[in-house]
Amino acid sequence: MIDITEKGAALRAASEGRFNELPVHNPDVECCSRERIRAIQLEKLIAQVEWTYERVAWYRDQMDEMGVKPSDIKCLEDVRKLPFTDKHALRKTFPYGMFAVPLDEVVELHSSSGTTGKPIVVGYNRHDMDVWNDCIMRLVQMAGVVPTDRVQMAFGYGMFTGGFGLHYGLQRLGCMMIPAGSGNTERQIQMIQDYGTTVLVATPSYAMHICEVGEKMGYDWETSTLRVGLFGGEPCPPGLKAEIESRMHIVCTDNYGLTEVMGPGVSGECLAERDMQHIAEDHFLWEVVDPETGEPVADGEMGELVLTPLDKQAIPVLRYRTHDLTRVVTEPCRCGRTSARMQKVRSRCDDMLIIRGTNVFPSQVEDVLSSIDGVTPHYRIVVDNETGLDRMVVHVELKPEAFSDSFEEMDKFRKHIEKELKNVLLVASKVKLVEPGGIERSFGKTKHVQDLRK
Ligand SMILES: [Zn+2]
Repeated sequence: MIDITEKGAALRAASEGRFNELPVHNPDVECCSRERIRAIQLEKLIAQVEWTYERVAWYRDQMDEMGVKPSDIKCLEDVRKLPFTDKHALRKTFPYGMFAVPLDEVVELHSSSGTTGKPIVVGYNRHDMDVWNDCIMRLVQMAGVVPTDRVQMAFGYGMFTGGFGLHYGLQRLGCMMIPAGSGNTERQIQMIQDYGTTVLVATPSYAMHICEVGEKMGYDWETSTLRVGLFGGEPCPPGLKAEIESRMHIVCTDNYGLTEVMGPGVSGECLAERDMQHIAEDHFLWEVVDPETGEPVADGEMGELVLTPLDKQAIPVLRYRTHDLTRVVTEPCRCGRTSARMQKVRSRCDDMLIIRGTNVFPSQVEDVLSSIDGVTPHYRIVVDNETGLDRMVVHVELKPEAFSDSFEEMDKFRKHIEKELKNVLLVASKVKLVEPGGIERSFGKTKHVQDLRK
């Protein structure tokens, strides 16, 4: 047996296929047969629909209008008879209209950022907190986190579900929590040294920033106690993660979740297939639908993820439309888990830019850039239509070794990137090369797109 707490041990074991040496939190549900997990889901779905119909007027009205009764749910596919839920429904019932338990029973309140209008408020009772902890304990162990770890939380706390969600789950596992919060990067690095931090929780872009600041301070990441990065809060492009892993000498995984259905912990990455995340299927029923029609797509096809939490008491949610695009596969994974895996979400239905009639996703730009030597994973897309036509400019940050004083060389490189982008995006864009470090780093969610069109 290897010592999983040794720096690099988890990644090494995974790369050598020794997945049986990595911990699995709850093999009974993470590694069971498809039949068993579907039976658990059906039993919970029936109870959840009854719970919701009896206690939440909004759902009762919707279901009565559609002529559906809880007793109509007899198999998992019957979930399609139920109404969808979206952000608007949750906003309209602000703050407590969707609650299914007396407020006295609620032990925690969180909300989404609410960039426009009212935020979305979610509450948890003790049962919901237990479920949440369970989900977090699963995903952190997929990265090799153990109870003796010291975890520095570089997420902001506050109303955002990411901070406290991970905090409680990691603490329940037995980890020593260091609630650093976000920002003050030099202090973060000092704390890693002082407290012997072994696990860092951060957005991937902030982890990259910590890495760069540490290098500038002369901190040696290779001999650092840090060995695991737990990412969330924003999608993590594969190129960025690989770079952080090699420069900080840590293993990094990211997880998926959203406030409306719980927070982080809906699914998490294992070390066998780095592009996929295992869904906590005994807690969440997933569907993948065509975003236009709401009808199911064929097995394994891309579509919009729809989630029904199966264990949520304080705010039950039926068929939540995430607007996230993914595909889900149900073949057993090399890590030994049999739970369904969703491809990491790289695009949202509403991230899509329409440039002169062509659909463009920021994730496509990321993929092109990650295939070109000499550019960093940092970029920005600026769109305007000052001249009457849509114009897209991609700001690309150079690595120091690719930076040159020769105008000719730089111009040739720029044209090369423009050509590569055109091949994939099918629409022309301009590239602006930016010197190393020239793209502003953010401490929270990275904003890759600036749409200035009027
Ligand atoms: Zn796996």
